[in-house]
Amino acid sequence: MYRICLGLLLIIAGFYVKATEPVHDGLVKLRISNFKDDKAGAVSYTFDDGLRNQYLIAAPIMEKLQIPGTFFIIPGQVSATLQEAEAKKPGAWGGVTWDEIRTLVAKGFEIGNHGYNHKNLVTQVKEPEELENEIENSADIIRRETGIFPVSFCYPYNSFNEQVGKIVERRHMVARIFQQGIGARDTTAKNINQWMDKLISRREWGVAIIHGLTDGFDPLRPDVFESHLTYAKKHEKDLWIDTFGNIGSYIKQRDATTIKEIEIGTNSVSFTLDCKLSKKQVKVPLTLVILTENKVTEAKATQGRESLPVTISNKQIMIDCVPDSGRVTVEWKFSDVYID
Ligand SMILES: [Zn+2]
Repeated sequence: MYRICLGLLLIIAGFYVKATEPVHDGLVKLRISNFKDDKAGAVSYTFDDGLRNQYLIAAPIMEKLQIPGTFFIIPGQVSATLQEAEAKKPGAWGGVTWDEIRTLVAKGFEIGNHGYNHKNLVTQVKEPEELENEIENSADIIRRETGIFPVSFCYPYNSFNEQVGKIVERRHMVARIFQQGIGARDTTAKNINQWMDKLISRREWGVAIIHGLTDGFDPLRPDVFESHLTYAKKHEKDLWIDTFGNIGSYIKQRDATTIKEIEIGTNSVSFTLDCKLSKKQVKVPLTLVILTENKVTEAKATQGRESLPVTISNKQIMIDCVPDSGRVTVEWKFSDVYID
């Protein structure tokens, strides 16, 4: 089991550091960016088990700093009343009510599926119906209560195998299979900041896992968390901070997409983006980077009949476009002016 997990983890880690190969023609280079807006690294903050302090302490800090986060909740453990939620110990699962979870959704946080009753899906669940209940019915309950079907799944005890993975994949876009714990009382902001610096220099996606705040399992000090997030926010130019679902979906789609039917003109390029995922799954726009031979002063882009926003930086043009949604055409002007 451990060997399989490690193997999978290495394969996935390999994908994440892979830079998409640019298409060359000598004058123009075209590539799908590793991360949105061509940022160097990416980070997601995930919270497991729906603990009360995650709602009372972590969410307000993140809201204040405008940092997105993902809460993996256990539908079968969610408190029926506020009284029940407040009576739960700091480390107890489901110390939140559905009303509180809906408040998180309204503030833009992601709610992920952590299994109906947090059963170990490899060792504690044997019958296929029970497996479906833990995975799929759990997701349906989240949709019923929040109005949004969960994009992300988190394996209870991080335990999974091929059979479990296949059921999860049927209706969830991504599952968490690697993570970095940033809790425990002796964790300092410096420790977490160094981990984040490495994500940028290694061009990787890091997934932080947080359980307790102040109290409970692996408690993170609120001041440490806030100090780290302030640091992360300052590095946003190089770091994509987003929910697990958004970054995971981008990566999954990026790795399934190929640039095709490329036509290169003197001051233009056009192409299509072909994605192997089903239409239902293709949702997030990918960032395309076009490197030209000279400094660009003006550029415009269209996909089908829609015009796309462009970002110009010296010789580089950046656009966001959704795969399988029509041909993309980009035209530009160079700074060189020739007078007859
Ligand atoms: Zn858990």
